Amino acid sequence: VGMPATLHGYNEGGSVALKKLVQEFENAGGEVRWLTPAYEIQKDDNGVKAVLAKKEDGSTLKINTKAAIIATGGYGGNKEMLEKYIGDQYTMGEVLQNTGDGINMAYSLGAGRSGLGVTQYFWEIFKPEEIGQMAQILGNDWFSMTTFTMFPFLRVNALGQRYSDETKVTSFSEHGGEIAQQPGQYEYAIIDSSILKKIAQSGVAVIEDQYASWVGNEQFYMEFNEPNSTDAMYAQQHTPVDFTTTLDKLLDTKVVYKGNTIEELAKAMDVDVNTLQASVNQYNQAIATGHDDAYAANTSRLVEVKEGPYYAVKYVARNLGTLGGIRINENMQVLDKDFNVIKGLYAAGADAGGMYGKAYVDFEGGTLGFAYTSGRLAGEQAAKDIK
Ligand SMILES: Cc1cc2nc3c(=O)[nH]c(=O)nc-3n(C[C@H](O)[C@H](O)[C@H](O)COP(=O)(O)OP(=O)(O)OC[C@H]3O[C@@H](n4cnc5c(N)ncnc54)[C@H](O)[C@@H]3O)c2cc1C
Repeated sequence: VGMPATLHGYNEGGSVALKKLVQEFENAGGEVRWLTPAYEIQKDDNGVKAVLAKKEDGSTLKINTKAAIIATGGYGGNKEMLEKYIGDQYTMGEVLQNTGDGINMAYSLGAGRSGLGVTQYFWEIFKPEEIGQMAQILGNDWFSMTTFTMFPFLRVNALGQRYSDETKVTSFSEHGGEIAQQPGQYEYAIIDSSILKKIAQSGVAVIEDQYASWVGNEQFYMEFNEPNSTDAMYAQQHTPVDFTTTLDKLLDTKVVYKGNTIEELAKAMDVDVNTLQASVNQYNQAIATGHDDAYAANTSRLVEVKEGPYYAVKYVARNLGTLGGIRINENMQVLDKDFNVIKGLYAAGADAGGMYGKAYVDFEGGTLGFAYTSGRLAGEQAAKDIK
């Protein structure tokens, strides 16, 4: 099942790691200029010579330097760049302040383009405005609606088509990428009343007892910056939950749809009835025969859709940001279109291209690991080059 998820998150959050880095930098004589975005890097035939930035009062800060390391976190917050480089289907990245400034500064110095079009899709979530709608009704309990993302319920796309092996949904990067390929970049999880009744009696462990194998061998970990343990999750998943009442409260939102029959559900979702019915039939047939001819899922893990009322919960692909843009070599030096080093220019983290394929890596922590490591390598190279 793959749980507990790869243990990511820091004690007290990532800000602790960043504060430590800043402290070390300042201890070594560095100066950090907050709220002073760089907007231009200047160079001449000898390489980089200055960086221009806008101070809080609007005036320009000019830093004369022979080396500049670009690390502005990609262009997930830049609608125009997303449209241009990702295509007509995109979801805004979660860090809106990362608007591709570093990538554009590098391009204006003739940097080569590499890794454009790579997006860090990860997990299923709701549109921000839909979270707002749910929070108005449920308060913080809106988050309970993400529970269904953890289990291999039938998934269909905006057309009502089944489109993937649902047992992979907890491989968040993989499934996020799959949703991103669907029309509108969203999907529905289809949940029937027979499983909801069982959950109301015994908890979601009736779907899959995801933490059973850890009983007697408790593991502690951080998730979403909160301490957690396999025993706590085991207890939580064995606690009865009445999702039916919660789902019914959300029927006026754009998240939850309901029908006494599959036909009614299709109408509520505004998808073709025959297509949705065919998806349900194929999925149920796979469970009945033990063979999933469409996606080769492990059918023993699928959750039959057999008893109305039926619910559909809508999820969108979550975009953590973009991954790539500037061509670099193994020393994090920026290369031009002909693969020549642009002297004094380096790129790291999400601005640097070439580390990834066409999707977020299938292990959590990979991009942060690259951000830290490439930043360090770039710093070491820059220090060496300016000697
Ligand atoms: C919610 C969320 C959860 C994540 N979880 C994980 C995870 O568990 N594991 C993992 O590996 N990755 C995770 N990531 C991705 C990871 O955070 C990024 O890949 C990583 O932070 C990229 O590092 P970076 O230094 O390139 O960019 P960032 O960390 O985004 O830093 C870029 C910085 O540049 C600044 N900036 C932007 N423009 C300018 C400018 N013009 N001048 C000066 N500064 C500028 C920004 O303000 C920002 O501080 C997550 C991302 C999000 C959004």
